[in-house]
Amino acid sequence: MPAPAPTVSPDNPLAEPSPLPFQLPPFAGIALEHCREALLAGMAEQRSEVAAIVGSAEPPTFENTVLALERSGALLHRAWAVFGNLASSVSTPRTREIEREIAPLEAAHDDAIRLDPALFARIDAVHANRDDNGLDAEAIRLVERYHLDFVLSGARLDEAGRARLTELNQELSELSTSFGQNLQLASEAAAVRVADAAELAGLSEEEVASAATAAAERSLEGYLLPLLLPTGQPVLVKLRDRDLRRRVFEASVHRAASGEHDNRPVAARIARLRAERARLLGFDTHADVVLADSTARTTDAVDRMLASMVPASVANAEAEAEILREAAARDGVELAAWDWAFYSEQVRTERYAVDTAALRPWFELDRVLVDGVFRAAELLYGFRFAPRPDLQGYHPDVRVWEVSDAAGSPVGLYLGDFHAREGKRGGAWMSSFVRQSRLLGTPPVVVNNLNVSRAAAGQPVLLTLDEVNTLFHEFGHALHGLSSAVTYPRFSGTSVPRDFVEFPSQVNEMWALWPEVLAHYARHVDTGDPLPAAVVEAIDAAKLWGEGFRTLEYLAATLLDQAWHRITPETEVGDPVDFEQRALEAAGVASPLVPPRYRTTYFQHIFAGGYAAGYYSYIWSEVLDADTVEWFKENGGLRRENGDEFRTKLLSVGGSVDPLAAFRAVRGRDADPGPLLRRRGLIPAVQA
Ligand SMILES: [Zn+2]
Repeated sequence: MPAPAPTVSPDNPLAEPSPLPFQLPPFAGIALEHCREALLAGMAEQRSEVAAIVGSAEPPTFENTVLALERSGALLHRAWAVFGNLASSVSTPRTREIEREIAPLEAAHDDAIRLDPALFARIDAVHANRDDNGLDAEAIRLVERYHLDFVLSGARLDEAGRARLTELNQELSELSTSFGQNLQLASEAAAVRVADAAELAGLSEEEVASAATAAAERSLEGYLLPLLLPTGQPVLVKLRDRDLRRRVFEASVHRAASGEHDNRPVAARIARLRAERARLLGFDTHADVVLADSTARTTDAVDRMLASMVPASVANAEAEAEILREAAARDGVELAAWDWAFYSEQVRTERYAVDTAALRPWFELDRVLVDGVFRAAELLYGFRFAPRPDLQGYHPDVRVWEVSDAAGSPVGLYLGDFHAREGKRGGAWMSSFVRQSRLLGTPPVVVNNLNVSRAAAGQPVLLTLDEVNTLFHEFGHALHGLSSAVTYPRFSGTSVPRDFVEFPSQVNEMWALWPEVLAHYARHVDTGDPLPAAVVEAIDAAKLWGEGFRTLEYLAATLLDQAWHRITPETEVGDPVDFEQRALEAAGVASPLVPPRYRTTYFQHIFAGGYAAGYYSYIWSEVLDADTVEWFKENGGLRRENGDEFRTKLLSVGGSVDPLAAFRAVRGRDADPGPLLRRRGLIPAVQA
């Protein structure tokens, strides 16, 4: 007798769709154990739904096979939407325990579905006849996507192959969980302790206070400088104590590379198992598998694009280094990697008269959000945002807004969770609690997470210019989710190929410094004065400064990602840190002064996120972004007509049409790389 299938108790708030407005999860009543129970029961429920599809005596049709599959797993989706977000935003030891328990079960669950030969036979049959049954274009695409998902998941393998694949997926899922958890714990452990406030010279009063709070939160004396996710740490811009700069830098680049939370063996094992899985699926490398489901399509296309940018970005970074060496020499300092950000800021201030740190009083979080981000979305798309203080988030930091369209009709909910705290992963992101779908009758409920430092009690929260950009960026993802108007949840909002998903969010960054938008939100927190025009011009003039560094550190991380995912099962990796160095040298991007934006042991995107062999996506989408910025400008910029065109033809269709066709529908042609190359100062070395 098999063990009885887990069930969900009726008093579990996740048992049924939420009764709250827009199906916002009833967070107040949801305990972690409810999530665990719903995840386990949700998997069992979906397996029995799939068994019913497979067991059907009727011949396979779109409705009884693909559509039934699309509808299946409702409880599981609901549980994941809540638990996945909690694990990212309010992680606790118990959350991590449940993640470790569920990850291998979930991998086995996915495999049980994707590797079910009887289910695949039915999908294959529907796929073969997809054009002959009066299906509309979105339904045909749904069939094609399911078919590709199954093929890339190994549905065509024989029994022995399927068994091995299942083992590989199991172990990979456990390894990814370990990688993420190691990184979080290693980063927390590597936060830099400072005993004496004098060492913090250069930081503002509130930054010193926040370092004191960070220490106090962990019952430590003195001050604590927590590490953020990428290599570069914002405090390095300001710290005058060179030895402390070195300590922060080294803590950053060596995190999770030794000791209790060493990610080196984890990363190497992940890459090797992915290589084995790729071979099993009939591909040369894991990168080939990933690119089969992308708009780039081939490793060649990715290589060509990256290689075309390397020489100019290396030359530009070297030119910047020369200028920085001179600035450092005035202090008797021989420029090292930990000095780069400090002198770069000094040069920016001297040459372009922009002191980015001094801009913060103009960027008060709520003004940026309401009068900047929301305002731009209203002018472009007609969206309006009304606070819903009656609706509760999953943490006291979370705020909820109801979104309505130009006609006043309700659209969905937007949740904002902007502050850094222990238990929240680094970086910034958007995700969904409810995916828009006409089939299921669900409106979108989306959330943005940032990691903005808290202000001292009673003080306004001020953003850096970078954080302002990040907010516009993440909100661009939120708009993608909120604009969604598709039938099938599989295609909702941001469910597009990875090398396309950053495109709408990057486009939204263009409004951060757009004159009409900026003038509206950038008001001095004390005086209400607008940002002086000269400062805005200087920000613009300074845009290319540092672009050599930024492009090179990004390309280095991208090429490192490709190197890890071009190995075969026979590749002798050796020590992952040495492998990394060899890979960077081979690609022509090894630089002691410009380390990759992420090094192997903290490259969460590729070892514990969805970006394996896909980190190139950011610059790939940026080609589309820069060309679209030109399109907006050619058509008069911030106008409802432009916004509506972009929203209806591109944002709203999500993954329901070919993404590059959606781009062409707006732009009228394929993307031109010229605007991107100009934006990054790379034109001279590249034939556009
Ligand atoms: Zn993004």
